[in-house]
Amino acid sequence: MTRPSRASIVPWPDEAAAAYRAKGYWDGRPLGARLYAAADADPDAVCLVDGERRLSYRELTARADGAATRLRALGLRPGDRVVVQLPNCWEFVVLTVALLRLGVLPVMALTAHRQGEISSVAAVARARALLVPGTVRDFDHQAMALAVAAQVPEVEHVLVLGDDVRDGGVDLRALCEPADDADAARGTLDAIAPDGSAVALFLLSGGTTGMPKLIARTHDDFGYMIRRAVELCGFGPSTVYLAVLPLSHGFPMAGPGVLGTLMSGGRVVIAPSPAPERAFAVIEREGVTATSLVPAAIQRWVEHRETDRGRDLGSLELLQSGGSRLEERLARRIAPTLGCTLQHGYGMSEGLLCYTRLDDPEDVILRTQGRPVSPDDELLVVDEDGRPVAPGEPGELLTRGPYTVRGYYRGGDLNARSFTEDGWYRTGDLVRLRPDGNLLVDGRVKDVINRGGEKIAAEEVEHFARRVDGVRAAAAVAVPDPELGERVCLCVTVHPGRAVRLADVHAVMERAGVARFKFPERLVLVPEMPLTAIGKVDKKALRATVDGALSPSPMP
Ligand code: AMP
Repeated sequence: MTRPSRASIVPWPDEAAAAYRAKGYWDGRPLGARLYAAADADPDAVCLVDGERRLSYRELTARADGAATRLRALGLRPGDRVVVQLPNCWEFVVLTVALLRLGVLPVMALTAHRQGEISSVAAVARARALLVPGTVRDFDHQAMALAVAAQVPEVEHVLVLGDDVRDGGVDLRALCEPADDADAARGTLDAIAPDGSAVALFLLSGGTTGMPKLIARTHDDFGYMIRRAVELCGFGPSTVYLAVLPLSHGFPMAGPGVLGTLMSGGRVVIAPSPAPERAFAVIEREGVTATSLVPAAIQRWVEHRETDRGRDLGSLELLQSGGSRLEERLARRIAPTLGCTLQHGYGMSEGLLCYTRLDDPEDVILRTQGRPVSPDDELLVVDEDGRPVAPGEPGELLTRGPYTVRGYYRGGDLNARSFTEDGWYRTGDLVRLRPDGNLLVDGRVKDVINRGGEKIAAEEVEHFARRVDGVRAAAAVAVPDPELGERVCLCVTVHPGRAVRLADVHAVMERAGVARFKFPERLVLVPEMPLTAIGKVDKKALRATVDGALSPSPMP
């Protein structure tokens, strides 16, 4: 058994942990047990819909137990890590439930990730298996996974969800068949259920530096956050939740998302993307009551609805927005066009989750990013020197609490940058705290570009740009974009007589195997990098320079 060692995880201090237990936040119940209790309450209720496929709770648990039994037969044991890189589909849910039940820890990677990211997270996690699709949008994930397996010594198994499972791969479809002896499988898995204090899964942080960092969430902390989100959103057996954002993000998975819906006896409907034409048809057909979107997708929904009222969206009660800033102008168009209540959210994979409440006044829902879901979430707004600012003044948000981690998994030196000595997580977000406790997220101090909710570390893009022949200095900045909120603009200075094209930068990134959403979409040549007084690139000045210089056409 290869349990993550204590040193890999920064635990909550004993005193805080004891308080969270005493208050009943951490109740020691593994996520699988909570979900199975909901399943047992109404086993014949349909709980998972993906296109024509409809699974009852009985079928979901039988398949999850089947998958868990077969994963065990492959040699996977509680505490082992596996990288899961699957698109939105019912098998993703079955496998997540199976892994949670077995105590094997999924590392939730994005389908957009490529060999660079996957090999990095697999190496940090010392993953024993990779769960990938076959080919998605012309990209051969299976070939990539086999290459990662050859690169990362701990990876023993490549499990593939697709029609063409090659030599060395394991067929995930067969793995997701119901257990041969359902009662026996259930008994065995019940007996080895993980402890509530154990890590349940890893989310990835886009973060401020190179490769994604691993965020270990325990059954106790994740379960508490999900329960609070369920309460605040009023999820229950009549909820029909539409999951359209990539499920590997915490927001659609657990805010309350897929897991919250299943734990409250509701029904999850899965769609592969938030494209409005298809999503509206699904809402009409399935009677969807709630969904969560990033603002870029909300914009597409609202615009589509304003020109096409063909579909009946009458069932939709709740639309959650999160991941990036939702402008008030767009927020105001939601109720008139989509006919549902907006819930404004702000949160992060590291933990803290803030929501407006469903019965908040309009001013709060439209203008603020809400308030923490737990009374024991602590917020501190500090200036550049780390000193608390006066109430209502802007500053960087620090946070800690019952479901916010105290460090990255095997975070090493990075933990000292991202967390204070007292365990506060430095969000890198610039906020103001209103007297009513709601947050206003004004911007950020971290060097990150938020492209439609996907976070890109400027440093990573710059690292690749500097490898391009002819480039002298490189700096990546966000440029505002009407569709995605922000896009990546790369500013470079070049050596005398040299020319650099965007395609050259893309070629370097392609070769390094990084996700395409990180590729810069604009290139601006600057004669000199503007510098701050202490000699760092002055990104504020750079943004002002590029603002006027750009034409509005994005990369196709
Ligand atoms: P992730 O961990 O990928 O969910 O990213 C978390 C980060 O997304 C936060 O630290 C913020 O920078 C950003 N974010 C999330 N929600 C919002 C929001 N409502 N407004 C502005 N930024 C947001």
